[in-house]
Amino acid sequence: MPNTPLTVVRSKSGLRDAIANIHYSGQRVGFVPTMGALHNGHLSLIDLARTKSDFVAASIFVNPTQFAPGEDFETYPRDEDADLEKLASAGCNLVYLPTVEDMYPTGSLTDVRVPGPSDLLDGVYRPHFFYGVTTVVARLFIHVRPDVAVFGEKDFQQLQIIRQMTRDLGFEIEIVGGPTQRDPDGLAQSSRNRYLSDDQRRIAGALQAALVRAAARIEAGTALSTALAEARAFLRTAGFDKVDYISAVDATTLRDLPETRSEWPDITRLLGAAWIGKTRLIDNIPLTGA
Ligand code: AMP
Repeated sequence: MPNTPLTVVRSKSGLRDAIANIHYSGQRVGFVPTMGALHNGHLSLIDLARTKSDFVAASIFVNPTQFAPGEDFETYPRDEDADLEKLASAGCNLVYLPTVEDMYPTGSLTDVRVPGPSDLLDGVYRPHFFYGVTTVVARLFIHVRPDVAVFGEKDFQQLQIIRQMTRDLGFEIEIVGGPTQRDPDGLAQSSRNRYLSDDQRRIAGALQAALVRAAARIEAGTALSTALAEARAFLRTAGFDKVDYISAVDATTLRDLPETRSEWPDITRLLGAAWIGKTRLIDNIPLTGA
């Protein structure tokens, strides 16, 4: 891997100058927002951004507004030195590490909300989560001024909500989804996988397996509600402690599919969220269409 020089920017004002120079030279800026504790999933998005732009900027910011009290904001993994090394070897050109004051200046009041899709699926279990995500991503878009921004399909609901926000607010930014990177047993890579003990890690691969099995059963003609109930039972048998949801949805609106197949849209998705101990895992796969 080539080691390109990685510019590390720790303030909004420093970022403004760096990005202004890039835009001035006519280069297209690609952007990958992250919360750090980087793994191959994040790095695959850097690679994808490079194919769509001339200059790749990432950000690392553990966004306090998307954590509810009692969630893992304080304990969320942080490993800046390792992250900077990974970004440099992935060929990232710039990383923005804003302060909380940069993102939320004292007295800041403005939220960006996409009600509707933000209130479904994960939004039922984490009611403020997507409001925090869209608020910080809108602010990051304004700071970084990218031409293209890349988000993982791993967080499919988030990707669709950001597409909607980008359309609604008229950001002239192309939103690109990158495929989910998985461990050999199918577990979607995630910074939170670090929380799993060895025993829990052995169970975790069952989440993707449950979705794949459900998709195959639905494809073979099993009734939707039956296949989804089987997937929930499969997870509990595999050792998951609690299943928040296994849902089959319209990939655009994120609304539950009706039982009757002829009423389905072309592109549908299967999503799931479940707990092993204190760790909540999410995953999703296509059901029909892309
Ligand atoms: P996070 O740091 O968890 O906020 O994630 C930052 C970006 O990386 C988001 O767009 C995620 O969807 C994406 N991402 C996280 N895990 C993966 C993965 N396993 N494969 C692809 N993208 C991912």
